[in-house]
Amino acid sequence: MIHKLCLGDFRENCYIITNSKNKCVIVDAGEEFEKIKNFIDKNNLKIKGIILTHGHFDHCASCKKFQDLGVKIYIHKLDADKLYTDNNLAGLFNKTFDEFDADVKFDEGNLKVGDFDFKVIHTPGHSNGSVSFVYKNNIFLGDTIFLNGVGRTDFYDGSTKKLISSIQKLKPYLNGEYNLFCGH
Ligand SMILES: [Zn+2]
Ligand SMILES: [Zn+2]
Repeated sequence: MIHKLCLGDFRENCYIITNSKNKCVIVDAGEEFEKIKNFIDKNNLKIKGIILTHGHFDHCASCKKFQDLGVKIYIHKLDADKLYTDNNLAGLFNKTFDEFDADVKFDEGNLKVGDFDFKVIHTPGHSNGSVSFVYKNNIFLGDTIFLNGVGRTDFYDGSTKKLISSIQKLKPYLNGEYNLFCGH
């Protein structure tokens, strides 16, 4: 099952993918650590990992607290530096951020997290290391595509040109056969 929590001032969508063995993978863990933790505890879930669509603070603000509890954090190698520098944009929005380093820096391709099998599609544009995750017939798009538009490309490593080719690359997943999960 896929559960959604809407977190923080930017109403970031945190998705919790569960299986029948009460294991889960979290896609993006933004602000409001307690809200995520309470959901996990209430449902008796064991977190196998947190995978990040990109490194902006509104998608990873709770990660350090989970990492301190032994949860591994995964991010594309091109966004990894955002987790320990101002490049996560927290400063720009006057937010405090618990810096950390990711446990796994992945590239495009298959990604196994516990028993969960994902396909990573590199979709730069909103940030250079933005990715989409395919899981069964679901796709998690981060801030690349929203229901009524696309992500901003005016941050320091954004690119409209790259965003357009990323959307082309995602076309096979936008034909109605996949459930779309956006980052906001
Ligand atoms: Zn973003
Ligand atoms: Zn965002």
